[in-house]
This record gives sequence, structure tokens and C-alpha cells, in this order.
Amino acid sequence: MQIEIQLTNEPIAEKISPLLSGGMAGAWVEFRGVVRGEENGQAISALEYEAYQEMAGRETRRILETLAEQHPCLAVKVIHRTGIIPVGDTAIYVGVGAPHRAEAIALLAGFMDRLKQDVPIWKRGVRSAEHRLGTNQNTAGNLPSRCSAHSLDEALAEIRARCLPLPAVRASLTEALGRVLRETVCAPEDLPPFDRSTRDGYAVLADDPAETFSVVDTRHAADWKPRQLKPGEAVRVATGSALPGSGLRVVMQENVERTGDRIRIARREKSANISFRGEDVRAGAPLLSAGVKLNAGALALLATAGNAHPLVSPRLRAVHYTTGDELVPPDQMPKPGQIRDSNSILIRSLLQDLQSDVAQGHLPENFELAKSQIGNRSRNAGAIGDADVLLVSGGASVGEKDFTRPLLEWLGFAIVFSQVNLRPGRPLIFGVNGSRVAFGLPGNPLSHFVCFHFAVAAALGGLTGGTGPVFLRGQLAEKLEDQPSPRETLWPARLSWGSSGTARLHPLAWANSGNVACLAAANALVRVPANQGSVDQFAGVDFLPLTAMLEA
Ligand code: AMP
Ligand code: MG
Repeated sequence: MQIEIQLTNEPIAEKISPLLSGGMAGAWVEFRGVVRGEENGQAISALEYEAYQEMAGRETRRILETLAEQHPCLAVKVIHRTGIIPVGDTAIYVGVGAPHRAEAIALLAGFMDRLKQDVPIWKRGVRSAEHRLGTNQNTAGNLPSRCSAHSLDEALAEIRARCLPLPAVRASLTEALGRVLRETVCAPEDLPPFDRSTRDGYAVLADDPAETFSVVDTRHAADWKPRQLKPGEAVRVATGSALPGSGLRVVMQENVERTGDRIRIARREKSANISFRGEDVRAGAPLLSAGVKLNAGALALLATAGNAHPLVSPRLRAVHYTTGDELVPPDQMPKPGQIRDSNSILIRSLLQDLQSDVAQGHLPENFELAKSQIGNRSRNAGAIGDADVLLVSGGASVGEKDFTRPLLEWLGFAIVFSQVNLRPGRPLIFGVNGSRVAFGLPGNPLSHFVCFHFAVAAALGGLTGGTGPVFLRGQLAEKLEDQPSPRETLWPARLSWGSSGTARLHPLAWANSGNVACLAAANALVRVPANQGSVDQFAGVDFLPLTAMLEA
């Protein structure tokens, strides 16, 4: 199938020519997504879309290729506009050519369903009708906020829109593990930088038919000395050593009989046993793109390319407070009515995994006392004042003692939303104060776990310039038993790989957001739509991977 994908900041033309001509397709089905003049009940003048260009293109192609297996089509053209798109303009155009209309329509419908969930193109902001286009740069700070329950997608869009990359820093390779690369790194030279032997053996002229040679010289790994070989001459070479010239081959020492300074080739080889200059990477070719999280392999590549101080995301500073008079530390025996604090170690571990410095404390369940404790703390340690991310566990709902929202407001955070129509994790508060962000996380450990993985991870992704959480497509390995819920659900699951490379998701048992038994096994969250109820075994599902094994 022919696929053409364009991401553009320009208006999409009124008329797009089909990819196919000359009657190859019986149907060319077109769809245009147009920006509506209303968003969540508010009149708007424009939407702003942002994309991770490369990944968006890759994911779009992957989805189309998967869909084409079920609905064989001939060609697809996708044009997605990004940047500011005024009301009435086309945000996305999709044209599908197929032998008959049924396949084209089915592929188009399937693609539009998947696009929003799987492709990293998102609404970065909304321009209310009062804003005149072109004059007001509606950046993260002045997007209108709405405090009714957000859908999961709306919450993610709000977080992404407001968490913009913090200034990048240069870090040594030993400090850079787990940070997000903020520059595209190209090879400064050919890799390998010279033709070198892949074996211990003897270099001879590639077309020399002789069987016996005299050994005239030696090259160890660090030697660099050109020499023009004559027929019948051989140079002893070590694995990795620079060859004395071009037009050579290397005979493995295992295939040679040596007597004094003479060798005889006992067995001829097909391979030249040479790693040629530039065969791994050509000078100037991109090695790593901005936005990747640096793992061990990426660091090794940077080291090879001599980039010892890459430009990376700064190490984030996070402050985490628990609330709740019922909490005792893990090493204490709880009295009746008390429980052990599990959120502190959960948050500490999750943040450390994301290369953040974490300061933690506990707040008394009294607004005035909590305020004075934070006031002292910020004067003493400076922690909260300097923090990029503030997390408060518990007290996020509307009970008499739940003061997280007013506390965040007292600290200067503008609340963007305070509820997400999600299970578990409904009372989730998100606030911003300049480039600093705060979350009030529901105290229940499972809610904590879920909210961290979609909401806090999205914020950290934005602040670091990384990808953040991306939903992928997988298959349920077992039936997911559930009652229909009016809220969307992120269901804890165990991810494994099927033999064909399919992500297989095993739903884990949980009854309510206070459950902890499934936490250790959960490495994915399956997205169950609102009002869905049970989901059949083998059904296709969207899921959020929680482990590093799937990082972009
Ligand atoms: P809250 O969000 O404060 O209403 O708390 C909801 C539930 O989560 C309550 O049962 C709390 O006891 C529990 N909870 C709150 N914080 C923690 C914590 N740090 N560790 C374990 N459970 C907690
Ligand atoms: Mg509480």
C-alpha cells in the first residue's frame, strides 16, 4: 500500500489530488477534521496542535500498515496540520484509495479511532473567542482553565500544554544516564574512522593469488603506519588494528601455517575480514535525535562519537509530601485505625527511576499547621521554593480535612483541574506556577500508582523535553471481568510478549483503589473505555507501558 504522510504548519489545501490515478482505485474516500468553534462548552477561535514529528510519522505509518492487513487498500494520504489552526480550517485530511469503497471506509474509520490515542499529536492549547488570532501568543501560562472533571485525554492535553521543556544543561556521560537528549547528535567522523582488521591474522593484497607470503611488518591495535604491500608480502595484523593500506584482505591466523617469517595459507576464506571506514556510520549522519532518553547504549554511542558532555534535560527537583494523621512509617506497628505509609517509597522509587532529586516530608492534617511547616521548610531547606515538581499525597478530595487544593493555591499554584473522570484516580489536582507544576494525588496507593504513571509522567516528559507516556496497542491475554463504569479505567495489567511480537496483557485483580496486591506485578495499564464492562479475551486494547523496555 502506498502511504504518504505530511505534518505541516501550513493550511491544508481545499482540493487534494488522490495518490492514485488512471482508475486503479474504485474508491477514493476523503475525510477532513475541521476545527469547531466550541470546545468544552466554550467559544473558541482556534486550536493549537503540536506533534513529535518523527514519532508521529512512524506511529501513523504503523497504524495504517496494521489496518491494511484487515482492510486491503491501495493508497493512503494523511496530512495533519500543526501549530495554530483557526476555527473552520482543516486540522487533518485523510484520503484512502481502495478497489472498493467498503475497505477504504473501514480503514479510514479505524485510523481515525487510533489516531488520537496512539499518535503523539496533541492539542497544545485552546484560544478562546476573545483572543484575536495573531496577537496573543497563547502559551502555557494563559490557557483558560476549567475545573470540572476532565477526561483522561483532556487531562493529558492540559498537562502537556503547560509542562514545557526546562532549559537544557550540559552533563558528563556518567551524569547523563536516564536524561533526555536535547540536541541531535551527528557523527563527527566516519565510524570506524579507518579500515581495520576484524581478526588476528595477516593482511595481503586482496587479489594476490599466492599461497605463501613473507611477513614483512607488524601492526598492533594502536599502530598507524601506511605501507604499500607488494605481491607475496604479508603484514601481521591484530584485531582492531588500522590496515597499512587499501585493496587488502586479512587472512585469519587460524587458516595459516607460519614458519619463521613465512606463512602458507592452509584454507581460503570468502570474507575480507575488514571493517571498512564509515561502514557503521558516515561522517555527518545523525546518531541520536533530540528527545530520546539516554540509555546505556546511547551513552556508549555518544562516547564513541566523542560527545563527552551532551546537552540534556536538567535533573529535576521534586518535593513530595504525604498527608494523613493515620499514617505511620513502614517500620512501625500500626495501632488500630492506622496504616503504613507506602506512597513515600513508591514516589521516591518512581522519581529516582526518572532521574530526579526527591525531598520528602509529612504534613499534619491541619491546614494552618501544614502551612507553617511548609513555610519553615522552604526557609530552611529551600526545597519547595526550588522544586520543579511538587507532589502532595492524599487530601485531594472534598472531605473536611482535605486541604491539598487550598494548600497548592496558597503556594501560588493556579489550579488547572481537580478531577479526572478516571478509575482509579478521580480526585487528581493539577496546578501550575510559572514553569513549576504541582499535583495533588489521591492517597490510595493504586490511585497513586496510576496517576503517577499517566499524569506525573506526562509532566516530567514535558519538563524534560522527552516523549512522556504514549499509549500502545496490545491484545488481552485473558478476559477482563468488570462491571460497566461511567468512568474510563486504567486497569493494572502484566505485559508479556506473544511469539509474533504482540503485546499480551494479563489483567490483574483489583477491587478498589486502596488495593496494593497488584502493584508489584503491574507493568502496564490497560485503557478500558467508560461504560464498557468486561472486555473479551484476545480483544485489541490500548495500554500504557510502565517499564523502560518500551521507551522510545
Ligand atoms: P485521602 O486521599 O487522603 O482521602 O486518602 C485516601 C486513602 O489513601 C485513605 O485510606 C488513606 O489512609 C490512604 N493513604 C493516604 N496516604 C497514604 C500513604 N502515604 N500510604 C498509604 N496509604 C495512604
Ligand atoms: Mg487523607
